[in-house]
Amino acid sequence: PRFLSARAAAIQPSPTLAVDAKAKALKAEGRDVCGFGAGEPDFDTPEFIKEACIQAIHDGKTKYAPAAGLADLRAALAEKYFQDNGLASCDPSQVVVSPGGKFSCYLAIQAVCNPGDEVLIPAPFWVSYPEMVQLAGAVPKILETGPENGFRLDPEALRGALTEKTKLLILNSPSNPTGAVYPPELIRQLVEICLEHGILILSDEIYEYLLYDNSEHLSPASISEEAAKMVITVSGFSKTFSMTGWRLGTLVADAPIAKAVASLQSQTTSNATTFAQYGALAAMRNWEQAMREVKDMLQVFDRRRLKLLDGLNSIPGVNCVRSTGAFYLFPDIRDLGVAPVEFADRLLEKKLVAVVAGEGFGSQTGIRLSYATSDDVLDKGLARIKEFVEEEY
Ligand code: PLP
Repeated sequence: PRFLSARAAAIQPSPTLAVDAKAKALKAEGRDVCGFGAGEPDFDTPEFIKEACIQAIHDGKTKYAPAAGLADLRAALAEKYFQDNGLASCDPSQVVVSPGGKFSCYLAIQAVCNPGDEVLIPAPFWVSYPEMVQLAGAVPKILETGPENGFRLDPEALRGALTEKTKLLILNSPSNPTGAVYPPELIRQLVEICLEHGILILSDEIYEYLLYDNSEHLSPASISEEAAKMVITVSGFSKTFSMTGWRLGTLVADAPIAKAVASLQSQTTSNATTFAQYGALAAMRNWEQAMREVKDMLQVFDRRRLKLLDGLNSIPGVNCVRSTGAFYLFPDIRDLGVAPVEFADRLLEKKLVAVVAGEGFGSQTGIRLSYATSDDVLDKGLARIKEFVEEEY
């Protein structure tokens, strides 16, 4: 298409959103689809958060807000990073609120990457990272990980991938798509290597509160003051508080980086929706209540996780790691001798079960299933997958 820029022509649409759209379209036709594709909690946003947003609209909070976010919200987030994530200090000037964690990631990459810079991305990765890196003219370098090490980046593999051009490492723990959680000791080792070589880290912690089996989340920026200068921490409200549609993401970085991110935002989207930020502020100000709701949600997720894990592992040729974060499992199907994308397409076609093929995440052997779905769908979907595998492979 001759009018498209080289950038636009090169970009791939998000495969996770595409699967979800396809499943929803089939559902709308009245077909009985079991959807494991969604990257969002199936719970509603907590009532008190919704009320605060509605109240903000009634109070006329319907105008522009400061580009970097409401001052009160930035202050509350700075406090959270100090209290909850263990940063030695966090000033509100280091915080930027954006329209979604996805945009926070995009701005972070735009803020620090020059054309030709290399960005290290452990695979399986969240689909948007390589595209965002390329949009900045930088070069994604993919570091393979596999089920044998729980889909976690090996420090030696990191060392081996470093070159003069390496600018940034992207870490995402808990991970989308694998659900892997990096243990604190591994985070420390990886951060140490990056600091030694002057490499920045983008730490995407959007699933930071979705943890099971007593696994622990460590924010790389909390390791040392030096680390705090080199780590850009992204998170948001979407996954923790079931607020995917609100479009609210957060970024914390060394003040000069945060300032650059805020400038980029001020010239692109301006602020995240003003009244939505008041909902988020209510979550921050009523943290204990908000966390109680998260805990309730986690109990349900955990039960479903174990059900899905057992169900998948009972299917011959399917092998699934017991991941302890987010709401995804990433079973390995290599023993079935079929490419994930073909498996996923046929599964949807033949059995109306939607899963996301690994290829979009940089995996040739896995598929992603989200357990942020009802028990009914889990039971029915698992039975259909089992039937499908028995019939086809
Ligand atoms: N980072 C990861 C790893 C994600 O999975 C997602 C959402 O799917 C995001 C960031 C962005 O979430 P949002 O833009 O809804 O805040």
